[in-house]
Amino acid sequence: MHELSIAKRIIDKASELREEYQASKIIKIYIKIGALSGVEQENLHFCYNILIEGMDEFKESQLIIEEKEWIVKCNNCGTEYNPDVHLLLCPGCQMNSSTLISGDELDFVSLEVE
Ligand SMILES: [Zn+2]
Repeated sequence: MHELSIAKRIIDKASELREEYQASKIIKIYIKIGALSGVEQENLHFCYNILIEGMDEFKESQLIIEEKEWIVKCNNCGTEYNPDVHLLLCPGCQMNSSTLISGDELDFVSLEVE
């Protein structure tokens, strides 16, 4: 399952940072997910909760997911836009030919520890 491996990556990264900060527990984990990454937020929360079971330092932690919008760049005039808003047509030249520049990534943003 896609979400399970992502949840694992998030937890590994958070564990690493917790050690670096020498914190006793993790309060909040902030991540950003591209609108096109195919990640179901609900599913990710579900997998996350399964994986942190039995991990004391994660017991009270919360996973905060922010969705990052889909941005493409027009191949004709270089305008960057969100195709959801503009129905795939470039607002600069009305062409429908673009390259994805943001929207399918997963970013670890920050961590709140105690
Ligand atoms: Zn254009």
